[in-house]
Amino acid sequence: MYYTKKRRIKKKSIIVLIVIILMIILAVIGINLYKYYTSDEYKLGQAGYSEKEIADILKFDKKYITYATEHDYEDDFIPLLREKYFLWKNYDKYIKYIDDEYGNTKVDYSRVVSLVNVGANNEPYTHTKKTDMDKGYAILVNKYTSLPEKYAPDDIVEMSNWYAYPDNRIRKDVYDAFKEMSEAAKEEGYTLIVNSSYRSYDEQKEIYDDYESNRGKEYADKYAARPDFSEHQTGLSLDIFSPGANMSNFADTETFKWLSKNSYKFGFILRYPENKEDITGYSYEAWHYRYVGKELAKKVYDSDLTYDEYYAYYLDD
Ligand SMILES: [Zn+2]
Repeated sequence: MYYTKKRRIKKKSIIVLIVIILMIILAVIGINLYKYYTSDEYKLGQAGYSEKEIADILKFDKKYITYATEHDYEDDFIPLLREKYFLWKNYDKYIKYIDDEYGNTKVDYSRVVSLVNVGANNEPYTHTKKTDMDKGYAILVNKYTSLPEKYAPDDIVEMSNWYAYPDNRIRKDVYDAFKEMSEAAKEEGYTLIVNSSYRSYDEQKEIYDDYESNRGKEYADKYAARPDFSEHQTGLSLDIFSPGANMSNFADTETFKWLSKNSYKFGFILRYPENKEDITGYSYEAWHYRYVGKELAKKVYDSDLTYDEYYAYYLDD
C-alpha cells in the first residue's frame, strides 16, 4: 500500500518535471524565434540585402542600420556610406542625383558625394544662400553661397608697387601674409606680383554687366562671378603671377610650382585647382589664391580637397 503510493507520487513528479522541461524548451525556442524575427539581420534580409551586404551594414552606426531596416532595398546605400566624405543630411540628395544622372551606368560615388556636398548638383546661382560671416577668414563664397548684399570689408589697404601692379587693395592681414610669403619666395629666387586683389561690389558688377551686355548671360557666368558671389569682393583673394607671366602660361612656371607647394605656410590656398571645375564652378586658375589663415590653410592643403568640399564637410553647420 505504502509502496504503490510512493510509486504513484514518483510517476506524477516525473510527468510534472517533463512538462516543466517542455515548457522551458518551448519558451527558449519562442524567445529565440522572437529575437530572430525582430533582429536587424532578419529585417535587412526581408528588405532584400544579401548575407554579405547585411554583414557590411551591421558594421555601420546604429542609426544607419535602423534606417536600412525601415526602408526598401537600396543598392547605393553601402557604397555611399563607405565614402569618406559622406554626409547623412545629404543622403536623399545623393540618391536623387544618382537616379537623375547615372541611370544604369556605373556610379562614381566619390564624385556624387563631392558634388552634392558643395551644392553643385544644382545649376550655378540656384539654391543660393548667404555665407556665414561669423566664420571670419574661413567664409565660403562660391556660386551657391554669397556675401551679404553689397558687402565691403572695412580694413582694406593700398598695396605698394613693390608687391603689386598699380591700384591693388587688400585686407590688412592678407597684405601682411602676402608680404611674408613674397619675402620667402624672393629668398629662394622667385618674384611674386599681384595682378588683381580686392574688387568692390560696384567694380564686380561693372565687369559682370559688361560681359553680359556684350556676350550674354551664359558667357558672363562662365568668365566672371556675379557681384556678391565673387571671392575678390571678400578682400581675401589675390591673383598672383610672376613678372611677365599671364593666365595662359603661369601654371607652367617655376614660381607657380613654388607657390603650390608653399602658399599654405603663409595662409593661402589654391582656390580653383585643375580638374575640379565641376566642384568649384571655375576653370583651373593657377594664379588665384585665397587667404584663410595659416592653421586652416595647412588643414585644407593636407586634405587635398577643394575649399568648397573642405568647408561643406568640416566647417558647415
Ligand atoms: Zn582671381
